[in-house]
Amino acid sequence: MEFDLVVIGAGPGGYTAAIKAAQLGMKTAIVEKGKNLGGTCLNVGCIPSKALLSSSELFHEAQHGFKSHGIKAEGVTMDVAAMLKRKDGVVSKMARGIDYLMNKNGIEHVSGSGRIVNAGEVEVTGGEATRTLKTKRILIATGSSVSGLPFLEFDGETVLSSDHAIALGQAPESMIVIGGGAIGLELGSVWARLGTKVTVVEFLTRIAAIFDEDITQALQKLLQKQGLKFHLGTGVESAEKTKTGIKLTAAKGDKSLELEAEKVLVAVGRKPNTDDLGATEAGVELDERGRIRTDAEWQTNVPGIYAIGDVIAGPMLAHKAEQEAVAAVERMAGKAGRVNYDTIPWVIYTAPEVAAVGLTEAEAKEKGHEVSVGAFPFQANGRAVAGAHADGLAKVIADKATDRVLGAQILSANASELIAEAVLLMEFDGSAEDLARTIHAHPTMSEGLREAAHMAMGEPLHI
Ligand code: FAD
Ligand code: NAD
Repeated sequence: MEFDLVVIGAGPGGYTAAIKAAQLGMKTAIVEKGKNLGGTCLNVGCIPSKALLSSSELFHEAQHGFKSHGIKAEGVTMDVAAMLKRKDGVVSKMARGIDYLMNKNGIEHVSGSGRIVNAGEVEVTGGEATRTLKTKRILIATGSSVSGLPFLEFDGETVLSSDHAIALGQAPESMIVIGGGAIGLELGSVWARLGTKVTVVEFLTRIAAIFDEDITQALQKLLQKQGLKFHLGTGVESAEKTKTGIKLTAAKGDKSLELEAEKVLVAVGRKPNTDDLGATEAGVELDERGRIRTDAEWQTNVPGIYAIGDVIAGPMLAHKAEQEAVAAVERMAGKAGRVNYDTIPWVIYTAPEVAAVGLTEAEAKEKGHEVSVGAFPFQANGRAVAGAHADGLAKVIADKATDRVLGAQILSANASELIAEAVLLMEFDGSAEDLARTIHAHPTMSEGLREAAHMAMGEPLHI
């Protein structure tokens, strides 16, 4: 029997591709070496981290936010074991959902590690029995894994990766987080809210550098209020285990810093999974950063072998992997699949959340645009003030000559949901005026984005 498509890896890229392929009539198999389908995102990434962020945010609110509403909640405690159990339950429930979708669409799930023998064969080992799957096409969706620092070997006890930091049995007394990106800020927030003294050490001169500086500075101040400490422009150079944890030596300009903590979380990025895959032996080219090189149809240089998601170039985001999955399979079927890389939203799920799409103000200027910018503070938004989450701002960046929206950034509660409007607007090449003249329900936080558009037009209303 020959498959039309064998997908290697069942993360959001791989399992979405399998569903789409089956729906388009392809006989499809998906090979996964992990216990559950769902990949990094479901098992150790997006979903468990968001479960912990939700629980810890409620705990923090009960301690610090309820009072302003008149709610007395004294002696609130956190049962960390129950929080972790809930998180594991969330993951299992969603994993069962993916199993259901595979069955419903008639996709064969082959357990084990997939290795490409050639463009028409995948060998699967480590499952029940070694099998060779014959196929017309192969889609590599093997994702990424944590990358570390050479002098800090992960041990799961003192030196943690995100895989460990979503499963700590109790809140450590102190934690150094190396890397002020998405993982560092999200998981740093989780444990800080539970009482851990968290210090973030970031190589660059600001955190979350994918956002504009006004946004990241506001975010940093809010996180500092929550107890997180920051050493920016600081590179960790060496480490030494101590009786109680770890001591790190870091360089900040020409100064040397010594930092000690019970644990260190290394969150300095992830690397593509291409080892033991047989891809390079089959002639598949990698780029200079070890990612699989693909063309505009997600096909590698070897005809019949495709790749998507974290294992190829571009932001390592679940929704990017999913979008590529659909488009790549559509291309295989002769359809016009496409990914608009200019409108991929980014979110960091701190409290408040921070979200962006398109160009930052700085990038727009670098690209030669004359820009008109509106930045509206949520302090002037009725719903935000009524809900006691008025920290943050919404920002719209438009091209001055055409009024076309080039990007938007939002720092606020639920920014992850609010950004969707800007994504849709940009997908349709919308203008600041389109956004400003669109009716938004009152009172809503979404009015904040509309007000930013008014400001970009030079016609502010409520400020
Ligand atoms: P993956 O999800 O990594 O899946 C690849 C799968 O392939 C894995 O299951 C792996 O076991 C399997 N595999 C690898 N090699 C083989 C082989 N040879 N044979 C068989 N199977 C194999 N992104 C967001 O968009 N939003 C978030 O909120 C978010 N939060 C995150 C939080 C954390 C802590 C982390 C670590 C990541 C987060 N991400 C988030 C990133 C997101 O998880 C990834 O971008 C996404 O999972 C990539 O999907 P993928 O399908 O390309 O690969
Ligand atoms: P990241 O690239 O987001 O951030 C890594 C940070 O570490 C950067 O700010 C970088 O400057 C810094 N850094 C690198 N080397 C350093 C060093 N030696 N010392 C100090 N700082 C150093 O990577 P991440 O946070 O590890 O996340 C990995 C991937 O997972 C990212 O691509 C991200 O897109 C994805 N992710 C996404 C989400 C989300 O969408 N909410 C959440 C978590 C992870």
